[in-house]
Amino acid sequence: MNLKLFGTNGIRGIPNEDLTSNFSMDVGKAISTFFYTEKIAIAKDTRISGDMILTSVVSGVNSTGTDMIYLGILPTPALQYYCKIHKIPGIMITASHNPPQYNGIKAIDGDGTEIDEEKEAKIEDIIFGKKFRTVPWDSIGKYYDDNTAVDLYVNSIAKRIDYKTIQKKKLSVAIDTGNGASYFTSPLLLSRLNCHIVSLNSNPDGKFSSRNSEPKPENLADLISLMKTGKFDIGIAHDGDADRCVFIDESGNYVDGDKSLALITKYTIKENDTVVTPVSSSDALSDICLEKKARLIITRVGAPIVARSMIENNATVGGEENGGFIYGKHQYCRDGAMTMALMLNLLSGENKKLSELLGEIPDYKMVKTSVKRNKEWAETKDIITDKFKENKMNFLDGIKIYEDGGWVLIRPSGTEKIIRIFSESRSQEIAEKINEKYYNFLNNL
Ligand code: MG
Repeated sequence: MNLKLFGTNGIRGIPNEDLTSNFSMDVGKAISTFFYTEKIAIAKDTRISGDMILTSVVSGVNSTGTDMIYLGILPTPALQYYCKIHKIPGIMITASHNPPQYNGIKAIDGDGTEIDEEKEAKIEDIIFGKKFRTVPWDSIGKYYDDNTAVDLYVNSIAKRIDYKTIQKKKLSVAIDTGNGASYFTSPLLLSRLNCHIVSLNSNPDGKFSSRNSEPKPENLADLISLMKTGKFDIGIAHDGDADRCVFIDESGNYVDGDKSLALITKYTIKENDTVVTPVSSSDALSDICLEKKARLIITRVGAPIVARSMIENNATVGGEENGGFIYGKHQYCRDGAMTMALMLNLLSGENKKLSELLGEIPDYKMVKTSVKRNKEWAETKDIITDKFKENKMNFLDGIKIYEDGGWVLIRPSGTEKIIRIFSESRSQEIAEKINEKYYNFLNNL
């Protein structure tokens, strides 16, 4: 039997239901058995269950003779940067943008990247086989704090941008950290960049009382209405663990992740640079790469996959349509605060409003829906492939089907029992029509 614990982004579950303290301890034991290293760093987001999961994982790690360094509440990319600099593996306790009842465990490699599928499979094998490398009493690991990760992270980001130009510009910024892991780091970075800041939900609150953690327009009503006062240059929001960053323009319009990805890419890459993006991204990005004479590599969906391809191809930038942007010069992972800083960097360098800069990006319309998955994906895939066999298709990840004037991408979610349907066209009407066609077909299966 092929048992799989890791989803697209680590192990996720509801504490005391599927994600119990015993299980979390086993995950801790397995991760440290796998890495077989002197020390591992650990951090958490603001979730209520964070302490329970974290201490269980710590106990497991210590039992294998490995020391555990606790870094505090941190964005996932801040832990990753610490791991990269100190060349030690890490464990992040987070369920990213999932509702507050969830939590999760994510393993970080000694170079700061998320572990790949092969390593996940090895860790799963250790968990299921209980092949833990526990040590005698006198070799058990220790647990201690290190409070240097915030400065390490924030200062390193400031070094990657033209911070003096940003400081001179005195940008007005509204930021909504959604009670999550970036409640301290992102406002701190903004204040060091001399921005005028109004922050929303920058109190750590594991119930996410103020808004849902996913930075979608319907969850950002407060930030959007604040932006509509016209008093700010840009609005910024993160998800729960702040590996993602989304933007609101100066008039209160939500900026689609595809648009911000294309915009930041346009102002960050040079000729002959390499850009990596998954098959779900907008054609706007390929247009930008063509314009800038950059190479574009298309991968399967998933930030770790994009990051691995970036390393292999020495890429400058990579990213996804959901506000997950990777800047290779800083680190090979999605990084909310780095994304924010790059956006402020380009905004300060150009004498234009955000909406004007976005207006220069090729305009594609994407429609995203999802349906419940009742059958095994393999079966659904066969049905679709057979039904639409006249169309040109691509099977890199899920099924991408080309239609007149656009395309649709149909793929099962890695974390939920749903099938996602993304359609894109230059015309909103065509994008909607394509999406509706496949939505209805899948819904009737
Ligand atoms: Mg996240």
